[in-house]
Amino acid sequence: MISLKHIDCVLLDMDGTLLDKYFDDYFWEHLVPQKYAEKHGVTFGRAKEILLSLYKTHEGTLNWTDIDFWSRELHLDIPALKEQIKHLIEVHPHVEDFLKAMKRQKKRVFMLTNAHYKVLDIKLKKTEIGVYFDRCITSFEMGYPKEMIEFWEKVEKIIKFDRERTLFIDDTAEVLRTAKAFGIKHLFLKAGANSKKTDTSQHEFPVLKDYRELMQQVKSDH
Ligand SMILES: [Mg+2]
Repeated sequence: MISLKHIDCVLLDMDGTLLDKYFDDYFWEHLVPQKYAEKHGVTFGRAKEILLSLYKTHEGTLNWTDIDFWSRELHLDIPALKEQIKHLIEVHPHVEDFLKAMKRQKKRVFMLTNAHYKVLDIKLKKTEIGVYFDRCITSFEMGYPKEMIEFWEKVEKIIKFDRERTLFIDDTAEVLRTAKAFGIKHLFLKAGANSKKTDTSQHEFPVLKDYRELMQQVKSDH
């Protein structure tokens, strides 16, 4: 574990890192195929096949994060569907305590998300974690997804952070690789992004299972 004494700035991804990715997985892998099947008169299995290959095509791009794009592409009202199941949006255990601790420690805390601003809105309303952030930045606003180095160059210009004294937590290895290439020193991969799926894959990054591990660090710094 790192010592948080050496950190001034904490950058946090939203989906899977702060919030349970179960909501998003259920949404894209179950609800959308179901609605797509009804709309286009195909079986659920066929809808899933079509959609999974479409998702693959747009993965890691701004289209992927743009729910208006998906509404047009699939002829479904994606924001309305998200709204319908917003009761499934959940914060990971101990996230709020961690955010409170970071504020008490006078760290600057930013959310960096690939989520569309409409989705960010729904999620912040439901979870009320927005109050802990100096600012929430979407890749949409930056014009690049977090997987691209240009995203980091733009963010750095806006919020100004010392790469050596910055901590970034995300549940996507590809995003962490770009952050590493940009020079952010302290990186963690959030494990257990979806609380109902077990992830067994190995990663090149240190893994954060539980936010209490980091909070423990705050205590031992004193
Ligand atoms: Mg994520």
